[in-house]
Amino acid sequence: MTDRTGRPGFHPFTRGGTGSARSLWLAGGALALCGLAVCGCGPAGAAGPASASRSPSRAATRPAASPPSAAPSASPSPSPAALPLAGKIVGIDPGHNGGNFNAASTIGQEIWNGTGWETCDTSGTTTESGYTEAQFNFNVALDLRADLRRDGARVVMTRTSNDGVGPCVNTRSQIINNSRANVAVDIHADGGPVSGRGFTVLEPVADGPNDHVIAASEQFGADVRQAMLAGTSMPESDYIGTDGILPRDDLAGLNLTTVPKVLIECGNMRNATDAQMLVTARFQARVARALTAAIVRFLGGQG
Ligand SMILES: [Zn+2]
Repeated sequence: MTDRTGRPGFHPFTRGGTGSARSLWLAGGALALCGLAVCGCGPAGAAGPASASRSPSRAATRPAASPPSAAPSASPSPSPAALPLAGKIVGIDPGHNGGNFNAASTIGQEIWNGTGWETCDTSGTTTESGYTEAQFNFNVALDLRADLRRDGARVVMTRTSNDGVGPCVNTRSQIINNSRANVAVDIHADGGPVSGRGFTVLEPVADGPNDHVIAASEQFGADVRQAMLAGTSMPESDYIGTDGILPRDDLAGLNLTTVPKVLIECGNMRNATDAQMLVTARFQARVARALTAAIVRFLGGQG
């Protein structure tokens, strides 16, 4: 869905409003649990989420990531240190939250995102049939977390359920910054024009706090783009960005990051062809595997 700016995939922000942001933070602990939306996925409108379920353990149904070993079956499993992501910390931010649909006043509070004001969070978009972006984002995040752990990484998530509210987008950034993650990804799906297809990788623009991670984030973005093209059947966006890449300077998730990070819009939920793919567990698992491949490649190159 196109947002209030009329530009697909863009989050609007409002100048001014220091009072509301201050009161937001003064609200204390309760507020820390309330969300902000990061990306340009557009509000879902008045319609609430359709019921969306997932199996409790999708990871268990996925084929093993590694090919069968030629070594004798009695050989010991690889030591943790031999795993490709051993000793690494990865941040995952599944955009929005399932409870945001019923928390307009909370997520509508304004927060400072480093370059301007934006709302604490949004509900995110939905497919025409009502499958929520929040659910998609969370499913991919769970798959990705399982893949990364299998490869030896420690994973930090900004939310661990899909029935809560928030947290706000600046808090999400802070959670990942505080974890000192080696790399991080914000997972979203867009609410673009119905005729538009494809994924977009949103990259940070230097604004002070993120200055020292711009080059690394751009490298990671290139790795994510390549892995998505190689590992999924989703094309690059034909309605936003250039070759699947779009720099953004108006999102807390990218403006405030102190670790290498990109935000991926995995497809356009408002497009029928993309939506058909996005709602399936198979595609969600493929996105997770592509992101894992990108993370392994990126961190491998970082020494
Ligand atoms: Zn989103």
